[in-house]
Amino acid sequence: MNAPDAMSIRHAVVAAMPLAEKLFTILRRSTTAGAGVSRESYGPGEQIAHDLAAQFAREQGLDCAIDPAGNLYLTLRGRDASLPAWITGSHLDSVPEGGNFDGAAGVIAGLVVAAGLRRAGIVPARDITVMAVRAEEASSWFAGSHQGHIGSRAALGMLEPQELSGAVHSRDGRTLGEHMREAGFDPIAIRGADPYLTPERFHGYLELHIEQGPVLENIGKPAGIVTGIRGSSRARNARCIGAYSHSGAVPREYRSDAVLATAALCTLLDDAWSEMQAAGADLVFTVGKLCTDPDAHGITKVPGETRFTIDLRSQEIETLEAMTARARAIADEIGRERRVTFDLGKFDLSAPARMDAGLQEALAEGANALGIDAPALPSGAGHDAQDFAHAGFRAGMIFVRNANGSHNPHEAMAMEDFCLGTQLLAWMLVR
Ligand SMILES: [Zn+2]
Repeated sequence: MNAPDAMSIRHAVVAAMPLAEKLFTILRRSTTAGAGVSRESYGPGEQIAHDLAAQFAREQGLDCAIDPAGNLYLTLRGRDASLPAWITGSHLDSVPEGGNFDGAAGVIAGLVVAAGLRRAGIVPARDITVMAVRAEEASSWFAGSHQGHIGSRAALGMLEPQELSGAVHSRDGRTLGEHMREAGFDPIAIRGADPYLTPERFHGYLELHIEQGPVLENIGKPAGIVTGIRGSSRARNARCIGAYSHSGAVPREYRSDAVLATAALCTLLDDAWSEMQAAGADLVFTVGKLCTDPDAHGITKVPGETRFTIDLRSQEIETLEAMTARARAIADEIGRERRVTFDLGKFDLSAPARMDAGLQEALAEGANALGIDAPALPSGAGHDAQDFAHAGFRAGMIFVRNANGSHNPHEAMAMEDFCLGTQLLAWMLVR
């Protein structure tokens, strides 16, 4: 039996769109807190979302399973159980007072594909498992030492046991392990166990997600095919140490002004960014925090200290390493010129993840067959797909246009765009 044509797939997905609208509406209504939605990692809002997905899956005749970390797997059976299954999904938690679409769109897209195919009588060649991932946004709820993306990394055997005790809840100070256990899961079973998901068992991982940047909105395209997920090199605790002195009495040549030195560093890093970008490198650079010591600063004082952060992101590990080295060299040079000392501290490196070239090609082919204008673009933000790629899965991502950014109540994804992205997902999953 040949794979269904683009027209049948479009019809199957369009017919199931009212189900998606209903799911988005119930999800928004049942998890709204304050201005936006709050689906706390391992908290009540996330659980409501998981219950909703599981209930929908049962109604649609999908098989349900839950792993020790609480990730949910909803499977539509294919024709040949011996073939490695597709896995598709995203996360159901959100940041505090976030938007309804970040994460949930990917799970609902998978469920709608399963429901649409089933109603249309299309049996996929291989099993399709929709994964509702736990705690992708854990960094917004848990402080302390952990690397976020708890659910996917736990399922893939990449969660370090010390993260279960090292991650502490920002509000109640209790550990991630305690929160997991309280939510009904088994942190002990995660320690040292074989990974729940291994690449041999799966054909690949596909994730539909709203774009968190403004690119698709600005170029007027409904969807995009992700080329890779930027890695990062981050200095979380950088400092510039100068000397406090009187702002009226001390001439220029005797000053060690930490603010002007830090401003010079920012300017020269901005120049280096522009240079590297002109040379073809993929790079973004941000100093998101920059402050003087509020207890010591004043309008009549030459500032003696600044604290700041550096966030470098790139799809290329070489670019991250080169720019990190450049930051250190520029800081040394400015330090000598301006009589200050920079202590940039440690840079935390997180490797970029490339989306599978074959899957990108297949997605482009699918977009073409379905008449969807979906350009290739990188993802600046992190996603569960990067963990699958790092674990050796073939991973691919579909972005759906979204105005107003994400992680805020004003996320704006049009259902027409979601429908196109979901058609593309369906096209891939029946192949
Ligand atoms: Zn997300």
